[in-house]
Amino acid sequence: MARGRGDLESRSHEVLSPTTSLRHLQEARLYNNWTQAIHGSSRATSSARAPIITIPHGASGKDVWVSPAADQTLNQTPTTTAPVTPAPAAPNSHGEGTVSTQLPSNDTGYTTSSGYKWLRGEGQEVDWAGWVWNNLNIPKHSFLCWLVMWRRVQTKDRLKKMQIHTDELCPLCEQELETCEHIFITCPYASTCRKLLEDQIGINVSIVDLTQLSTWLQKPCNGRFRRRVIQCTYAVLMYNIWKQRNAAVWRKCIASHQSTVERVTKEVYWRIVSVMPKKVSCTDKNWFVSVLS
Ligand SMILES: [Zn+2]
Repeated sequence: MARGRGDLESRSHEVLSPTTSLRHLQEARLYNNWTQAIHGSSRATSSARAPIITIPHGASGKDVWVSPAADQTLNQTPTTTAPVTPAPAAPNSHGEGTVSTQLPSNDTGYTTSSGYKWLRGEGQEVDWAGWVWNNLNIPKHSFLCWLVMWRRVQTKDRLKKMQIHTDELCPLCEQELETCEHIFITCPYASTCRKLLEDQIGINVSIVDLTQLSTWLQKPCNGRFRRRVIQCTYAVLMYNIWKQRNAAVWRKCIASHQSTVERVTKEVYWRIVSVMPKKVSCTDKNWFVSVLS
């Protein structure tokens, strides 16, 4: 039911407890801050004035918008700009180089392209970026592979360095120390799954570490489409190995090699079908269907 004027007036004269009065004062101050920010002037009575951000007239990308001090007159427009203070170096998406703190600008003003380059940073491209960020990959698989190539997956050797006490054995084979190289390459479970998959696709290669795997995946092989399908297959395999590793840790169960390979085959097949490039020859399509269906 809506309150009438009389209700409001009678409410304004009611005796408020100290807690209620304090809450009303805080609400009024909050409202005052918002009105200052929106209208540039105070609409409620409050001695506390929040600083607002004023955009100087004619500001461009190379200018810096500064916030006036809290005690500065609200309607005063800053006439000077502060220099950009270099921030600590931050890694870009490739993990190398730094992100500039200088806003992108040129004589014609801000452009989307300059903003994208500014956010991305000027880094050195790593040699495994091509297969990790292959656009046929499922994005979550690419992300895991990216972590793997930087050796940033939370394997037990890393957990130990972080003073997290746990046993150090690989949960898949329970024979060796769990490292990134072991869990994805040298572990008997991973190598058996990889061998079964390679036999199915018709690949004969001996992989001993992640660097060699990465180098091999970047090599040309019977056309761009086939190479990308193989890259996608290895990304799915690595994801499923990590999934089985987590199942072994948390649920104490591991799928059989054959079951994992079948799952990988199915995931690769449906992924490629869903994002099949337009310019793929019939020969390549027949090869894809014959090895992965
Ligand atoms: Zn193992």
